[in-house]
Amino acid sequence: MSVFLHVDMDAFFASIEQAVNPRLKGKPLVVGSRGKRMHTVVCAASYAAKALGIHSGMSSREAFLICPNLEFVKADQAKYIWTSERILEILQGYGFPLSYASIDEFQMELFGKVNPLDLGRIIKERIYADFNITASVGIAESRILAKLASKLDKPDGLSLIDASNFKDVLSRTCLDELPGMGGKTGAGLIKTGLKTCWDLYLNLPGFFKEDDKNPGKSDEGPKSVGHSYTLPDARKNPQVILAWIRLLSEMVSSRLRRQGLAGFTVAVRLAGPLIGDFCLQKTYKTPTNDGYEIYKRAVQISSKIASKTPRIRLIGITCSGLSFNAYLNPLFKEDARREGLLRALDSINNRYGDGSIYPAVTALAR
Ligand SMILES: [Mg+2]
Repeated sequence: MSVFLHVDMDAFFASIEQAVNPRLKGKPLVVGSRGKRMHTVVCAASYAAKALGIHSGMSSREAFLICPNLEFVKADQAKYIWTSERILEILQGYGFPLSYASIDEFQMELFGKVNPLDLGRIIKERIYADFNITASVGIAESRILAKLASKLDKPDGLSLIDASNFKDVLSRTCLDELPGMGGKTGAGLIKTGLKTCWDLYLNLPGFFKEDDKNPGKSDEGPKSVGHSYTLPDARKNPQVILAWIRLLSEMVSSRLRRQGLAGFTVAVRLAGPLIGDFCLQKTYKTPTNDGYEIYKRAVQISSKIASKTPRIRLIGITCSGLSFNAYLNPLFKEDARREGLLRALDSINNRYGDGSIYPAVTALAR
């Protein structure tokens, strides 16, 4: 049984303009399809503008009549497409089947043991941390209900439609509020005398169900996360090797945290002229997504390789046995401090680019 997670960016174009120009934050703002402020069409309105009754599709002249102090920006498609592509990449990173419905709407099909609400929260936080804009996430057992759920608590919403609120939500949603009901379909349905989505459900229960297009698929997303590196020539300086193990461990750990994952199993691959191609792995009692912990485990595992200072050409670190767990609930005070540090590292690297901040020891590998 799969679950759908619908991500819908809030006032996407207007929010991006406010993110790049903080002076516009919180203000009524419209994005015009052309630069002529009095002679164009509103293609996006900020939430402050929406609150005044301004909406996309309206003429800009009309919008300025409602609010003479309205802020105006000409649409910059390149910026919106760029942001949309980055969001798509982030969502692809979670490893679930993904489709996009429009430039600012994405749908993910979840399988397995993932907690959809936790993942929704992680995605919202990630988008906010990276782009300083908000998204609303809806979760339900069909695509259409997931999309409807994303609209229930906009902006910055996170909503679930399940058996407990299904009737309630459908009863208070008019048919024309249902996604895709704007045009003839909606008008046709309304003529039949049906008013709410609940009426529609009673007449056509299959409407809100998902056809099972992928029977037999019960995968759980990514199975492992790994990085490897081939040195320009075989090295036997243990300091350099350890620095590489640490750097690769950090890369693996940041990808795990980004995807809300932690791994029970660490695998180390070492290859060199004397030792051949070695891969050893060990499964631990607790999962981790901490680079230092992965490094310590990797060093412990690689110490099993016979020769003391083997010449190494290739180093690989992989975590598998993955479970969904963005930040592990720390039991001990020391772990709680470390977790605070990891969150800070992630937010710096998310905002300023990977590798902006890293453990000093990895400098040897750079
Ligand atoms: Mg949107």
